[in-house]
Amino acid sequence: MHRLILFDVDGTLLSTNGQAGEALGMALRETFGTAGPIEHYPWAGKTDPQIVFELLGRVGIPRADVQPRLSEVFDHYCDNLARRLSPANTRALAGVHALLHALRQRPDVAVGLLTGNIRRGADIKLTAAGLAGHFTIGAFGSDQEDRNRLVAVARERARALWGDEFSGTRTVVVGDAEPDIRCARAGGACAVSVASGKTTRETLAMLQPDVLLDSLASPLALLALIGPNG
Ligand SMILES: [Mg+2]
Repeated sequence: MHRLILFDVDGTLLSTNGQAGEALGMALRETFGTAGPIEHYPWAGKTDPQIVFELLGRVGIPRADVQPRLSEVFDHYCDNLARRLSPANTRALAGVHALLHALRQRPDVAVGLLTGNIRRGADIKLTAAGLAGHFTIGAFGSDQEDRNRLVAVARERARALWGDEFSGTRTVVVGDAEPDIRCARAGGACAVSVASGKTTRETLAMLQPDVLLDSLASPLALLALIGPNG
């Protein structure tokens, strides 16, 4: 295989219509009695542990108090998420099914995830959106709080599975927010931005991704980047 394509989840592959945020807010209140300033919080591109530390930090709960209860927060979160998400409120974004099916026909392309979601949360979301089963490997917020380290995690898993770590721009990171571009750069990978989430095309363009798409329904520039089949 020649390329490894790593997809972000929220705003890139699917939308939970705010349900995931509600599920995390509820989990924080269940565990710490507060969800901090969650109403005005910019989520895009952050990892789940980073979100929890930041939200609670802003209401004065120190990291040292949060760390030992992080798994408790995420247990509540996953319970809430599994209860709330269904095919009725969680949908794959435009073009996603078609693109994933097209990539599946490519023996030269490996497809995985690079997401701030904890692994269990990503599984619940992808299952609700009908997207489970497309991704052979993944790097998750449960692996590293710092998204910029996740390209290395994905490559380690690729090497273990395929004996090839897809170095440099043979790895392609696809995401809808500025941190997706930054983490691609931090890992020396190609950055493909999709303006299908909350971040505008203009904001994404300022960070000069290698490819900038309006949505995955028009993926021609992404397909051109990875080259012809074979
Ligand atoms: Mg995203």
